[in-house]
Amino acid sequence: MKICIIGTGYVGLVTGTCFAEIGHDVTCVDKDAAKVKLLQNGGMPIYEPGLPELVQKNVAAGRLRFTASTPDGVEPAEVVFIAVPTPPQPDGSVDLSFIEGVAREIAACMTSYKIVVDKSTVPVRTGDKVAETIKRYCKAKVECDVVSNPEFLREGFAVDDFLKPDRVVIGVKSQRAVPAMREIYAPINAPLIVTDINSAELIKHAANSFLALKISYINAVSVICEASGANVIEVANGMGMDARIGRRFLDAGLGYGGSCFPKDLSAFIKISETLGYDFRLLKEVQRINSEQMERFAKKILETLWVAKDKTLGVLGLAFKQNTDDVRQSPAIELCQRLQAEGATLRVYDPQAMDKARAVLKNVTYVKTMNEIAEGCDALVIATEWPEFKKLDLEKVRRDLTHPILFDGRNLFDPAEMERLGFIYKSIGR
Ligand code: NAD
Repeated sequence: MKICIIGTGYVGLVTGTCFAEIGHDVTCVDKDAAKVKLLQNGGMPIYEPGLPELVQKNVAAGRLRFTASTPDGVEPAEVVFIAVPTPPQPDGSVDLSFIEGVAREIAACMTSYKIVVDKSTVPVRTGDKVAETIKRYCKAKVECDVVSNPEFLREGFAVDDFLKPDRVVIGVKSQRAVPAMREIYAPINAPLIVTDINSAELIKHAANSFLALKISYINAVSVICEASGANVIEVANGMGMDARIGRRFLDAGLGYGGSCFPKDLSAFIKISETLGYDFRLLKEVQRINSEQMERFAKKILETLWVAKDKTLGVLGLAFKQNTDDVRQSPAIELCQRLQAEGATLRVYDPQAMDKARAVLKNVTYVKTMNEIAEGCDALVIATEWPEFKKLDLEKVRRDLTHPILFDGRNLFDPAEMERLGFIYKSIGR
């Protein structure tokens, strides 16, 4: 099918590329002309494993192209996907101006029937507003169906998640859009749920909030583990083997971050409030999350007694492994918290240093992970990159003026670290 994707960020670029990979003809539009130019010249605006190869292959095959012109993308397309940001406003509600703007832009260049699919994460009832807006601003007498198709991919695993999803959710008002949506996803082997637009929109907010709840739950359990001498990893393993619970999202750590969970939770709380329900359970999830970070920062500060004039090494800046995304990264927040206490920082991340430079100033960015501890008073692990498990611990111990390691991601075995001569402090054990 002829597809246009508006917004070529993490979601739009992966979606467009994967649709091309399964045989569709895709034009990705972005208003950021520099990003479009970079992509047209074979560059990549984001780090996402496996994506550059797929982009290159599908551009070469003539199935994928990039443009900064919305009409060039929309006019020939049968189906137009919206994948623009839906950032939070200060009160937690969603700024829907990007969505509204795109709806107007689509309306302005629609000359034939289109299916307009919202892939951005939006509050329930946004679909109706998009349909109304397109109708209002479309001069040509042409029809359009609005569909909700929320995206569940995870950064760092985005290509795999997109091509092998647990399910595809399609929310429609009119059955007319269903065959085209089925055709688009036909090569993807996953259950396709067809429902109404409101339910589809709610599935996304309810799912993300539930995952965040799982993280806060195990983080709260980690506090009890620490107080009682239990081990949170043992507890999570034992819980996770229950098929009703599952092991994923049960890793205690610095809490959730990133561009999705914090904003989606706030948005869900806010939209619930608008609809007359005080979602206190989710407010508690948020409270546990911010407390978790503060508890870890206190653990560091209490051990060091005074952070001023001390140098700390920090491994990990991305909000999680396998991505260069530092938006609302707990690692960056922790760095800033430690800086506020007067600590000097040496930091390293395998992929996120370029993006971190824009938000984390007055630190030393080191080139390799094994030089992180040189001249440091202690080392902090803030992101669960798998390569950190291969850290040269002998060198780290020699480099540190005191062998203190704070592990916010439980990467190492406490008994082994003690044997190696570290004062090792992790989470929930
Ligand atoms: P992003 O910031 O990486 O990308 C958005 C892109 O849209 C940017 O390149 C921006 O320049 C472009 N854009 C903005 N207005 C535009 C316009 N009028 N015309 C053309 N392009 C425009 O955002 P993202 O992370 O891809 O998120 C997009 C949506 O998907 C959000 O609603 C988000 O919540 C949701 N989502 C994100 C993820 C994720 O892991 N990042 C996962 C699932 C859902």
